[in-house]
Amino acid sequence: MMRLILLGAPASGKGTQAKMLVDHYSVPHLSTGDMLRAAKAAGTPLGVAANEYMSAGKLVPDDVVIGLVEDRLASADCAKGFVLDGFPRTVPQAEALAAMLERTETTLNRVLQLDVPRELLMERAVLRRTDVKTGQIYNLKYNPPPPDAALEHRDDDQEEKVRARLDAYDAMTAALLPHYKRVSLLSRVDGVGSPKEVTERVLRALGQ
Ligand code: AMP
Repeated sequence: MMRLILLGAPASGKGTQAKMLVDHYSVPHLSTGDMLRAAKAAGTPLGVAANEYMSAGKLVPDDVVIGLVEDRLASADCAKGFVLDGFPRTVPQAEALAAMLERTETTLNRVLQLDVPRELLMERAVLRRTDVKTGQIYNLKYNPPPPDAALEHRDDDQEEKVRARLDAYDAMTAALLPHYKRVSLLSRVDGVGSPKEVTERVLRALGQ
């Protein structure tokens, strides 16, 4: 049983490490960013409204993401645990999550913070590309894609939008760290290095 939150700034490697962890623990991957992008691609009213915030590098309102996570956590597959990636991002979201878990009489096992300096985050995001066929994430400098990949550059990975997202992280999400530290759930992991090196640190932090 593993109920885990991955905290980290945009491009800190949360998505990559989350994919590894869901395989390792055989639990679902709950990424609010992925859920919102899927809603946008499906053209739902929620997706269209959320995209206004996302494409500006701003946080989507709390009630929208809280609703998404609440619905998803009610699914049967989440009974065996989950990896939350990109949620919670604000104190009200963390409080809503605590209330959801309390209702089901479950608790978090750990909150992992991936720590990466801002200059590197900027470079990683601006050079990040996703293969739309496989969902695999690459970096043009650090983890180049194969020549046949169908690459997409996320609209919100443009430089000025990344800056806004990093500011939002510093202003809102960083406030969650003292809270999870106080309740002894927080483990800090150095996120600088290859995905494999960071994976080794993540598993070590989880006692694996
Ligand atoms: P991500 O893929 O986690 O970097 O998220 C991409 C974008 O989706 C963010 O920049 C926000 O606009 C939005 N988003 C994702 N998760 C949240 C959340 N928990 N709270 C508010 N906005 C979110």
